[in-house]
Amino acid sequence: MKYFKQILFLSIIVAVLSSCSKEKIYLVNEVVLSFDDAPNFPENVVQILDILDKHHVKATFFCIGEALRAYPEIAERISVEQVMGNHTYSHINILKNNLSEIFDKEILQTQEIIDSLQPSNPHYFRPPFGKIGSDQRRFLIQKGYTIIMWDLSAEEWNDKVTTRQVLNYYHTSLQSKAKIPVILFHLNTSSVEALDILLGEFEEEGISVISLEEYLSKI
Ligand SMILES: [Zn+2]
Repeated sequence: MKYFKQILFLSIIVAVLSSCSKEKIYLVNEVVLSFDDAPNFPENVVQILDILDKHHVKATFFCIGEALRAYPEIAERISVEQVMGNHTYSHINILKNNLSEIFDKEILQTQEIIDSLQPSNPHYFRPPFGKIGSDQRRFLIQKGYTIIMWDLSAEEWNDKVTTRQVLNYYHTSLQSKAKIPVILFHLNTSSVEALDILLGEFEEEGISVISLEEYLSKI
């Protein structure tokens, strides 16, 4: 009995020490992943698609119509492997425009390209620069779009933001279980490098990357 108690005590100590040695980086359980401005920066987009494939992750790519036309092969690959969203035809600031006047050219035209590639596309829309008015929101919802903003972005569209800074940002930001965060990634070199590391850490810590569809069914 005495030995048993000692062994039990020792095994508890070992368990406590081993759990302390590997501190969790994140506290979230689930995240949503999205990318903006695709398929601009085509070489980086290809690497991002490879990384998502390697980690078995589904994300949403908010695409620019003129970039879909410029890089049809990458557009096709995104449509086969990931979910596409609408990010206007020319990355226009819709807040500075009369949306009903530019709707056909900027949003409908882009959606037609997306629908031709992905016939059952869910019609997600993200406004360039995050700029949208409440009347514009109503207008787009009436047209059947779901407006998708974001909760977290390391702003690494800016070349000055390093891979380490992107990772540090997510290490400090993903510390709350209160809400499933929608993450906005861009298509820079630091986006590519940080994404692979981040998804590896998510796997180690059992964090699920859920689709926008699943996310919308939960909120
Ligand atoms: Zn954008």
